This record gives sequence, structure tokens and C-alpha cells, in this order.
Amino acid sequence: MTPLTREECAKLDTEDPLAGFREEFTLPEGVVYLDGNSLGALPKATPERVARVVEREWGADLVASWSTAGWWDQPRALGAKIAPLVGADTHEVVVGDSTSTNLFKTLVAALRQNPDRKVVVGESGNFPTDLYVTQGVVELVGATERRVAPGEPDLEAALATGDVAVVVLSHVDYHTGTLRDMAGVTRLAHEYGALVIWDLCHSVGALPIELGACEVDFAVGCTYKYLNGGPGAPAFTFVAERHHASARQPITGWHGHARPFEFSGEYVPAEGASHFLSGAQSLIAAAALEVSLELWSRVDLGQLRAKSLALTDLFVSLVADAGLTLVTPLAEERRGSQVSLRHPDGPAGEAVVRAMAERGVVGDFRQPDVLRFGFAPLYLRHVDVHDAAMALVEVLRSHG
Ligand SMILES: *Cc1c(COP(=O)(O)O)cnc(C)c1O
Repeated sequence: MTPLTREECAKLDTEDPLAGFREEFTLPEGVVYLDGNSLGALPKATPERVARVVEREWGADLVASWSTAGWWDQPRALGAKIAPLVGADTHEVVVGDSTSTNLFKTLVAALRQNPDRKVVVGESGNFPTDLYVTQGVVELVGATERRVAPGEPDLEAALATGDVAVVVLSHVDYHTGTLRDMAGVTRLAHEYGALVIWDLCHSVGALPIELGACEVDFAVGCTYKYLNGGPGAPAFTFVAERHHASARQPITGWHGHARPFEFSGEYVPAEGASHFLSGAQSLIAAAALEVSLELWSRVDLGQLRAKSLALTDLFVSLVADAGLTLVTPLAEERRGSQVSLRHPDGPAGEAVVRAMAERGVVGDFRQPDVLRFGFAPLYLRHVDVHDAAMALVEVLRSHG
């Protein structure tokens, strides 16, 4: 592909149907932010909304806000706003806790849904918390972990033994940016009698997701990356409707009780995904997330994906001769919204990322040798990508 000039990029920006969203974010002057896959940018409407929760709902209305401000129902209301972003029904998603905690809950629940089997399959190289939580759960319940190399061939070999209860996978790999075939892998796992938990941290808000159509069992994801919910924003849990009647998660707190205000001594699970709630959440953090999800409700995910692919294509074409090795697959059906590049002299890549930051281009470095650039289509322009690529090329040149 012939790399575009900056002028051609500027023209694409004038034709970009998502261009208006950039105005809705606070972005520091002179910075090209390619780390929105780690912490998404701040929507301009967030501070005022958070202040309102603090000053009015908390400060003036106090405890009444649990009902008058909708605090009690906020985990379900936010879940309903996330549902269309992941191809789920509104009652299949709830918001609360962290991705790590939600993975713990869903993994225990999934193991209980498949009680004759005791093996959890995960992939080496998955995000550490997914590996660590899996280790913790198998230790706790007396199951075993089988960790395989990423990719369908090894996964199928691991499933073929017929004893796998649950598979835990990331939809987009945080390190390489590889997008998995959610429909195909889920079907494969089901054929071998296993359930699937998908971690959507690097795909939600980056591309359209079809949990329902793919017949996914459980999913978890965070909201502070592409969804711009703010640092430590509450995560979400998806539980497919067919599991609602029987799925049982282990942190049976009162917020997941069918009738919490009876204050009875016995736990009765709430219906639907609500059973996966445990205790009170930060309503201040929830307010920040609510603002960004209102913004996201206006995003056409088809346009989002098209722009994401255009931006990553553009970046790849501009740095093609820079001496780095492309790690992220170029095939569209295998590519998330990031570009990972391997530096031939591993640790030197970290200095490159630092030098780029000094030029106002924020990316990150992942051990041992990967430069990682995330492309958040709502607030990045084609010219930003062009500038970032030129900065990378110049830094590499000057670092010899
Ligand atoms: C970011 C990320 C997480 C984050 O987990 P927390 O509990 O929010 O710290 C989990 N899994 C993956 C794949 C991630 O990329």
C-alpha cells in the first residue's frame, strides 16, 4: 500500500463520519494519544456529571439518592447501556467490580455449570490477571489448568481430550493485538462440551462484538480502556440468558439477592445477570462511566471498525520501512485496534517509546521488546496517526 501524505490524511479527516466525537473529549494540547487502549481519554461532560453526583446526589440528597438518583439500579442501567456494544440483551449484562473479580465469579460459575469436568484451558501470553485468577480458581475448587500456546490448533488439541470444562480467552490479545474468531472458537469449545469465557478488555469499544450471535456463555470486560469510563472504572459481566436459571457465582453478597431489602438470613439469587452483583459500588465512578456510555450510544460500530482499520493500516504503511517487525496480524479478521511492533534490539524499544513521548506521542512498551500503539477511533484523526508515524520513523533514525 502506498503511504498517504499528510494532506491526504487531512482530507480523510474532513470526510470522517466520526470526526465530531473528537470535540467531546479533553485532550492535552500537542499530544497524540496512542494509549487509549490502556486508559481512555476523558469525555468533556464527565467532570460536571461527577460533580453533580458528589454535590447534589451525595451532598444534598444523601441516602435518598439510592432510589431518587437511581443508585440502586445503576449496575443494571449501565449494563443495559453496554449490552448493544457487545451484542447482548440488556438483562444479560451488569456493571460492577473489576475485570479480575468478575473473571473469578464467572469462572467459578462456569465450572459449576459443567460439573463433571475439572479442567480449565487458558492460553500462555494471555493478560496476567486472567492467568493468575485462573490459577487461583483451580486451586480453590480443586480443578486443573491446562495452558496452551495461543491459536486454534493447540486449543483444539487441548479440547480433544474431552475433559475440559471451561476455556478462558481474550478476544483481542493485549500484547500482539490479535483478534480471535469468537464465533469459530466458541463453536469449537461447545463441540467438545466446554463453556467459554471471553475477556473483552481490548475489544469492547474497539470493534463490534456479537456475544449473542456467537452463543458465548460468559464474558467480562473493563470500561476504562476504549470505553473512556475513567481510571478504575467498574467492569462488566455478561451471562448468557440460557445460564441465568442455573448459574451460581461464589461472591453471594446482598446486591445479588432476589429481595435484598427483606434482609433475610438466607441467600436467594436474583434473576438474570443481577445475581452476579455482590456489594455496593462507587457511584461516583459509575457516574463517570454513565457519561461515556451516553456518548457511546451515539457511535455507529460499523463506522468505528472501518475507521479503526483505516488508522491501523495507515500507521503500518507509514512505518513499514522503519526496521521494526510487525507483530499484529494484518488480516482484517485477525486485527484489533492496535499495532504492536517488535524492536530488533529488545530493551532499546523502551527508549524509543520514551523519546516519542518527549515529542508528544504517547504509546507504550511491553516487555520484552514490543512497542504498542492503540488507536481509539473516536478521538484520533488520520493526521494524528501520520504525525505519530513520522515521529516514530525519526526517533528510530536518530537512535541509529
Ligand atoms: C486491562 C485488562 C484487564 C484488567 O483487569 P482489572 O481487574 O481491571 O485490573 C484484564 N484482562 C485483560 C485482558 C486486560 O487487558
